Amino acid sequence: MSITENLKHIKNTLPAHVTLVAVSKTKPNEDIVEAYEAGQRIFGENKIQEMTDKYEALPKDIQWHMIGHVQRNKVKYMAPYVSLIHGVDSFRLLEEIDKQAKRNNRVISCLLQMFIAEEETKFGLDQTELMEILASEEFKALKNIKVVGLMGMATFTDNQLQVKKEFTQLSGIFAMCKKQFGSEDNLDLNIISMGMSNDYSLAIECGSTMVRIGSNIFGSRNY
Ligand SMILES: *Cc1c(COP(=O)(O)O)cnc(C)c1O
Repeated sequence: MSITENLKHIKNTLPAHVTLVAVSKTKPNEDIVEAYEAGQRIFGENKIQEMTDKYEALPKDIQWHMIGHVQRNKVKYMAPYVSLIHGVDSFRLLEEIDKQAKRNNRVISCLLQMFIAEEETKFGLDQTELMEILASEEFKALKNIKVVGLMGMATFTDNQLQVKKEFTQLSGIFAMCKKQFGSEDNLDLNIISMGMSNDYSLAIECGSTMVRIGSNIFGSRNY
């Protein structure tokens, strides 16, 4: 099936409250243009350099989401235009995003990435670290970022029960934080980013409001 057909099919299966991030990493601009012409505006990339090249070449009403691990020294390259950063996994990174956002005279929306998988290779905060950040005075002083939700990646496994347990855990942490912290100028929790091509239906059942889908739209990736 074509990119256009894939997109249409996926959009038809998503509930209205779930936002689709089309993950275009490693894919050429022409693939993104096809998805754009089919109406897609939100694209996810995991490398800042690649995302910036695409940003410069492609229509300016595309919303670019950084879904990969972020190095602090590269934040400045995406700060002028990035729409949402999913993978924020430390206070120091949040501080750097705040600093670069201020330089660009904007507020950058962020998701805090939670470690929910069993694999050591995945990044993210645990619940205690998350609570410490959100409760701190240092966090409240950051005026040029806005934490709008949480992101997580489940263990790469065929075991659906395991994946379900991890997604449910993330939803639970989200609900608890929302209750405990309410909204502030730089905190407004309304997004749970979880679910990829293989597990997005389950993620939605478990409370996801934003799914990140690559291969089911663009086909498998050759690295
Ligand atoms: C690559 C990637 C995706 C998309 O993966 P698919 O299996 O191709 O849908 C989603 N989230 C993150 C963080 C990724 O790096």
